[in-house]
Amino acid sequence: ASKAEGQNRLHRFEPGLLLVRRLRSQLVEDLRATLKDGGLTLHYQPVVELATGRIEGVEALVRWNHPTRGFIMPDEFIPLAEEAGLISELGLWVLRAAVHQLRDWINASLVDSRFSVRINISATDLQSLQFIEDVRNVLKETGVRPEQVVLELTEVAIVRGNELDRYSLGGLRGLGVGIEIDDFGTGYSSISYLRRLPVDRVKVDRSLITGLGTDPTQPALVAAVLQLIRACGLEAVWEGVETAEQAELLRGLGCLSAQGYFFSRPVPPEQIPELLAGQAESAARQG
Ligand code: C2E
Ligand code: MG
Ligand code: MG
Ligand code: MG
Repeated sequence: ASKAEGQNRLHRFEPGLLLVRRLRSQLVEDLRATLKDGGLTLHYQPVVELATGRIEGVEALVRWNHPTRGFIMPDEFIPLAEEAGLISELGLWVLRAAVHQLRDWINASLVDSRFSVRINISATDLQSLQFIEDVRNVLKETGVRPEQVVLELTEVAIVRGNELDRYSLGGLRGLGVGIEIDDFGTGYSSISYLRRLPVDRVKVDRSLITGLGTDPTQPALVAAVLQLIRACGLEAVWEGVETAEQAELLRGLGCLSAQGYFFSRPVPPEQIPELLAGQAESAARQG
């Protein structure tokens, strides 16, 4: 009897599960289609040199403009793309779109050779030898200098640190592109890997600065993290700066670069020229 009951229960729940599954697979189909017909766009968020206000580069952040659901944010569809085996295709689209955009800005003399575009790459990209070829190809076809392209990898992706990953990192490094660890301080945070990995910079997760400006013990923590990163021969970028006070505290602590809503939200590429023009003014004001 209990077995029959169990089956009944299962039946009662099934329509709901099916619905969720159908919505999911519809979304996967939509994503598959949108990769073909251009429903993805990139927004760009400035990374700012704290001492001068100069925009040293931008981070490309993908958005999905869904025909009926509006903008869908990456935290919602990147995991879906991973599961559905679409992440490589998505990663290639982002890589190409971002580097071509940078090429256009360079050609329009909007940015100089110090300006970089940062691209988030997934653990899957890192594991694929094809991805190294893709990076090589897009650099070749655009003529963009490799130093102007920085790949952001999360700690979680890097820390697994198997042989293949290390080989791929070496391969990417060999092309001359920059490598940055993203979301530092949220993952498994093995400190020793900071010294071992072939990376250039570390982007500290915004959770490490949320208390800055309110919690009096926070500056000491930021100073310690900065010191740790520098002791490993690396430089830090601070993300999630939302207030003038936070920016000022970071600058005072000797931090060089930061990113966050205080400087600018991620914006569509059409708004970048205006932001670049504003930066010149603020630099002039500072003398
Ligand atoms: P992330 O690479 O750590 O990017 C920073 C995220 O923080 C972005 O969210 C950005 O909009 C947000 N952010 C920036 N400044 C502030 C701030 O001052 N306060 C707060 N609260 N948030 C801020 P977004 O665009 O929703 O992206 C979320 C994550 O999705 C990214 O985290 C990245 O891991 C992933 N992602 C975004 N674009 C791509 C992509 O093209 N490929 C891959 N594989 N992942 C991507
Ligand atoms: Mg990032
Ligand atoms: Mg991050
Ligand atoms: Mg993140």
